[in-house]
Amino acid sequence: MTLLKLVYRLVACAVFLAACVDPALLETEMIDPPVFVLQIPEREDAVAAAEPRPTATPFAAPRPTATPFATPTATPGSTRSRILLGLLPVGRVRPTATPVPQPTPDGEHRQVSVPMLMYHYIEEPPSNADSIRFGLSVPPDLFATHLDLIQDLGFETISVRDVINHLALGTPLPPKPIVLTFDDGYANHFTNALPLLTERGMIGTFFVISEFPHSGNPSYMTWDQIRQMVRAGMEIESHARLHESLAGRSEAYLRNQARGGILTFEQELGYTPRVIAYPMGFYDQRVIDIFRDEGYWAGLTTQNGLLQDNRDPFRMWRIRMHPDMEARELEWLLSEEGLAWLAGQQWVSGNR
Ligand SMILES: [Zn+2]
Repeated sequence: MTLLKLVYRLVACAVFLAACVDPALLETEMIDPPVFVLQIPEREDAVAAAEPRPTATPFAAPRPTATPFATPTATPGSTRSRILLGLLPVGRVRPTATPVPQPTPDGEHRQVSVPMLMYHYIEEPPSNADSIRFGLSVPPDLFATHLDLIQDLGFETISVRDVINHLALGTPLPPKPIVLTFDDGYANHFTNALPLLTERGMIGTFFVISEFPHSGNPSYMTWDQIRQMVRAGMEIESHARLHESLAGRSEAYLRNQARGGILTFEQELGYTPRVIAYPMGFYDQRVIDIFRDEGYWAGLTTQNGLLQDNRDPFRMWRIRMHPDMEARELEWLLSEEGLAWLAGQQWVSGNR
């Protein structure tokens, strides 16, 4: 045996032993995902209000292509490699997907009014739910009522990337566009929301926390379920690597959250996430700067608003959905009067 072969066999043996380590032992280092997520609008507003005002500088960041939402092509990794991926320092893991080429924006200033509804749990809240958990839940029958109403009013569901492409390049949107967003990657998004959307020919954008789908927590979708969502035409984007506030964090922490999300997406879904929904709505100017620098194109807040602006793509506005949002209330919100009220909300809440 040559020396080269001996070295090769030693390396192969070491890799095999590493892969045979019990995943349960590795997972003990992972953060236990919360069962529910705190959403505290008042604090979110306070954080946002304390930020420096955005400059009027047009996009200098890399901009999206007009390429439609990429279909995943990479071979999904094994469970064991996923666990290893989640624990390795991100700088040591090589992405496997081919980066999407990023176009040059045409330099036009564009604004567009697109309501982006924000959902969390699509299920009946458990009987012991506290007020926060209850307030984040929309039961499936009410959700179905929302979808029927949205269609009856003539709205057409589009993706966040559709909005971004319109803002950057002027790609056309339908006459009455609307975006349905779902935060946290709950299992009920797969079991309850997906069938109700697909049977109506509608789409949604789902923000997943990239360490949770392989955590074994049954409250969250698995990567297999998420891949089925993608195949069904749903858009999947990032809700960071862990569900912790990004505001006031170090550069190293933020780069880890941004890159970790990218690497896991590329490994599991075969494409690069380009949109961040800030966990719990917390963000500051450093978050925007670093996520932009890491290749993200836009960020979604949890604050009420309507007017999306390509001078400020890391502050896209949403509309919070809750169990008291009955059909009549949603119909008003999506009326001319309601949308005008929403457009005013983002200015009076002191976020600009
Ligand atoms: Zn969240």
